[in-house]
Amino acid sequence: MIFNYCTRDEARQKNLKHFFTGIPCKNGHVTGRLVSSGDCLSCAAIARKKSKEKAKGVPVARSARLSSPPGPSAEQVARENARIKKLNREVTQDLNEYLKKAFGIEFTLPVL
Ligand SMILES: [Zn+2]
Repeated sequence: MIFNYCTRDEARQKNLKHFFTGIPCKNGHVTGRLVSSGDCLSCAAIARKKSKEKAKGVPVARSARLSSPPGPSAEQVARENARIKKLNREVTQDLNEYLKKAFGIEFTLPVL
């Protein structure tokens, strides 16, 4: 988006929705601002995204991590590993029971 330099008052007089002063906002964005609130458009877009995610039930803390490289967090990896371990244990136990019933043998598979 290209913004022509104008002050908030000028934009208001021209009935524009945006104005651009070239002065960075408190978060360092050099972009247009809304005449209505004076908010930087980038900040407004971020706030909109956050409230959208909040409405969807996505924790705000997660959106803060979006700028970091994609991939599961250490917490997610630990949870997934625990889930797989539990699944393996259940499958192994089931198999042991099946072998015992079907063949009458006690066959012990290593429980992972
Ligand atoms: Zn901003």
